[in-house]
Amino acid sequence: MARSSAKRGDLEELLRVRPGTRVDLSRFDPDKTHGRSKDDAAKELEDGLSRLAELQDRLWAEGRRRVLVVLQGIDAAGKDGTLRHVMGAFNPQGCYVTSFKVPSEVELAHDYLWRVHRHVPANGEIAIFNRSHYEDVLVVRVHDLVPKPVWSRRFEQINAFERLLVEEGTAIVKFFLHIDRDEQQERFEARLADPTKRWKFRSGDLDERERWGDYIEAYEDVLSNCSTDDAPWYVVPANRKWFRNLAVANILGDALEKLDSRYPDPEENLGDIVIH
Ligand code: AMP
Ligand code: MG
Repeated sequence: MARSSAKRGDLEELLRVRPGTRVDLSRFDPDKTHGRSKDDAAKELEDGLSRLAELQDRLWAEGRRRVLVVLQGIDAAGKDGTLRHVMGAFNPQGCYVTSFKVPSEVELAHDYLWRVHRHVPANGEIAIFNRSHYEDVLVVRVHDLVPKPVWSRRFEQINAFERLLVEEGTAIVKFFLHIDRDEQQERFEARLADPTKRWKFRSGDLDERERWGDYIEAYEDVLSNCSTDDAPWYVVPANRKWFRNLAVANILGDALEKLDSRYPDPEENLGDIVIH
């Protein structure tokens, strides 16, 4: 415990994208582990997950603040695995996940934030977005689904939307799970080889892989334009799953701790009560 307490906060500092900086992802090593070994990390993660459980309990009991977690990454970056390993720490009461897929006809008939806004967290809740409104400046841009003048003004719109949420009492934490092309290849191969994972693979994933460079460019713009003091992006080195889980757990813990949620005061005179 002493070790993890001493290190608490270091990954938050190291991985946060400073607002206004231009992100060049080729300068971020997806293999990086920031001084951790896999063995150390196991204990540190265990502590991190207990901390998350305790902090969520306080958030829920207090019932005044809200937390939104955004998970983004290229196919096979580990969004599902992160959900399983990290968010499993939370009590399902008060925590829910929304996975954003190709928009329906009804969703497409509205502005792109319409389908998103209804899934933001309420008081005491943690909402996790598995993909998010950022797809509207990622896949939409890469596939030319709307013209450039339309997607390029969305960065500002997204910042404004997130500012609204923050001002109304929502903490926002955004994770970009960063893997490289070789790692994606290995994971795709593993998916194809494993009958329990094969269902995840779609041939369309290969077309997306062909557009790797376009996605990286689109992600660099997201990270450069939309990391703000109130709703920061974190670039998480994600080639190693154990480090990815540790980083997400620690950073999320730091964000929850910053809220400093308090258990509500109990009713008065409870000390006099005798239960028969
Ligand atoms: P998966 O996360 O593997 O279940 O796949 C969901 C798919 O939905 C991905 O291919 C995303 O790119 C796609 N998707 C999510 N949001 C949008 C959007 N706003 N416009 C178009 N495609 C989207
Ligand atoms: Mg997929």
